[in-house]
Amino acid sequence: MFKNIKIKSGIVALTTVLLLSGCSKTQESKLRPQDDFYDYVNGEWIASAKIPEGEISIGGMGDLQRSVEATVKEDLNKMFSGEIEAPTAETKEMVKYYQVLSDVDRRNKEGATPLMPYLEEIESMSNLEDFNNHAGEFTINGMYSLPFVASVGTDMHDTRKHTLHFGPNLETILDYNDYNEETKKNHKVYISLYQKMLMMVGKTEEEAIDIVGKAMKFDEVIGKLNIEDIDDSDTEDVLEGYNPYSVEDFTAMSKSIDFKNIIEDIIGGMPDKVILTDPEYFKNIDAVVSEENFEDFKYWMYIKMLNYGSSFISQDFDKVRNDANIEMGEEPIDVTTDEIYYMTATIAFNDAIGVYYGETYLGEEAKKDVTEMTEKLIAEYRSRLENNTWLSDATKKEAIKKIDTMILKIGYPDQLPKKYKDMVIKPEDSALDIMLNFSKAENKALFDSYFEPVNRVEWAEPAQNVNAYYNRQQNSIAFPASILQAPYYSSEQTTSENYGSIGAIIGHEISHAFDPTSAQFDENGNLKNWWTEEDHKEFKKRTDDLLVQFDGVKMEQGTVNGKLTIDENTADAGGLSVALAVLKKEPDANLEEFFTSWALGWRTKYTPEYQKLWLKENPHAPDKLRVNIQFSNIDDFYTTFDVKETDKMYVEPEKRADIW
Ligand SMILES: [Zn+2]
Repeated sequence: MFKNIKIKSGIVALTTVLLLSGCSKTQESKLRPQDDFYDYVNGEWIASAKIPEGEISIGGMGDLQRSVEATVKEDLNKMFSGEIEAPTAETKEMVKYYQVLSDVDRRNKEGATPLMPYLEEIESMSNLEDFNNHAGEFTINGMYSLPFVASVGTDMHDTRKHTLHFGPNLETILDYNDYNEETKKNHKVYISLYQKMLMMVGKTEEEAIDIVGKAMKFDEVIGKLNIEDIDDSDTEDVLEGYNPYSVEDFTAMSKSIDFKNIIEDIIGGMPDKVILTDPEYFKNIDAVVSEENFEDFKYWMYIKMLNYGSSFISQDFDKVRNDANIEMGEEPIDVTTDEIYYMTATIAFNDAIGVYYGETYLGEEAKKDVTEMTEKLIAEYRSRLENNTWLSDATKKEAIKKIDTMILKIGYPDQLPKKYKDMVIKPEDSALDIMLNFSKAENKALFDSYFEPVNRVEWAEPAQNVNAYYNRQQNSIAFPASILQAPYYSSEQTTSENYGSIGAIIGHEISHAFDPTSAQFDENGNLKNWWTEEDHKEFKKRTDDLLVQFDGVKMEQGTVNGKLTIDENTADAGGLSVALAVLKKEPDANLEEFFTSWALGWRTKYTPEYQKLWLKENPHAPDKLRVNIQFSNIDDFYTTFDVKETDKMYVEPEKRADIW
């Protein structure tokens, strides 16, 4: 990945360190490129830049992300207000969705009516047989609370295929961790809230008390199971959660739940295996749900649906919920703001917005130009592998296979995810219907894909996210439209400036295929050793040279962890050297511009708290070192700026790290 900390959560920016934060103009003017290139280029800006109130950074990708978001918001608000027409079928649906969400009058007039069919469906069940008849449909819908979750993923041992996963779903209504006086008091507030809401959907007080009592009995059963969450970003955790079972063995585990029927309903056939994240849970699932506690389980589902669904109906439900929040000492939440409607409607259509953004702001010319640059960089990388002096032919062959099969994603996807074809709004649909239909569309597309080969061209993130990434399982690289603009790329910039920024970034992502972690995966994204022992030893020696250069470097808020940052530093080293090699073949190459452009791209200032967190958790080195340490390993930097032994950036030739 190009940036971090948690890629799935979306926008996270990059780093810098503020050695110069108090520097005056006179000090700045003494800076020489040979001593501290990063500060030579960025020092003056860093000294004067002020991080906006409430933000963690200024400069770099964070600034670009904010500007992309502002542009998107302006356009979408024009679509929502009718000032401009939504250009595609999907954005038209998004506008309809926004209109339904913001139609508070309609919601208030309808009261609890939109929620009733969903509640009645749950209440109509009288035993496990009824449940098993509905369970497939509930699973596909995704918004009904069940004692398990099912999902389709990529098989980590054969990334061309899908696997069907089952795991426990133990999201309780009440919080059973740290049970103390305060949680005890909060439990009471929740119980009275649910009783109130039940009466608002037509139950008598007596019925409401009874239903909540039953639901909480079940809630406590699962609350006490105390099952650990799996961290899907932790390879060991994920490996531990990979427990294959035959369908027969799995379905024999439970008499209560008809998993065979559920599997048939959701994927339309029988898989050759099922992956259980927690086999012990499924072996004991009949102790969780049985005919004896069916009513408790049923009303647990009922309360969960009531709780979820009541956020999308009339405002009197918002009011009782907020009264409860205030009683628990929390801030009331206003769910009827334009901001919330905007977020809700746009998140659902993220990929469609990305395509809109790319088509509107990237343009065919730029897409073509960046594609050509990427192809040149890949060709250069390939020839460097072919001419490599320290790899054996056997390892070279495998490495070349990996680069030849790499998938390129530039600008925005050609196709939207399949779920969009089912994300269609009918005039009579309430906001809640739409929420549930969209959830179903997403799950259905996922389950329908089970018997299909893994789609390696699918994008992991929408194109309006400023990012660039290598996907290890797909062996693909992606450069969304939003990063293909100044200062990273522009048709107004010189060839050298573009290679110094987006060129080296593209090179960085290509190099990730050959960083210490990803080098353990083959061209299909499977964990497989394709190195000879000798070659891997040499690779390790070379990356260790780089590791040592970064490890323990003191920054204002702590020290750099060489091991944590080795993948990213290897990618930077490879990216810079391949981009430089391609640029040098261009007639108008200007290496001074190349180096300056890379340094400018990392011009960012962070809050001290964020710098501290960064050093602890972020796999990227601080921006300043991504410039200075990397450049001190590049011979062309020495000749371009006439760096001498007496200069601070000087590193003896035999100590310069050289990997790709
Ligand atoms: Zn990276």
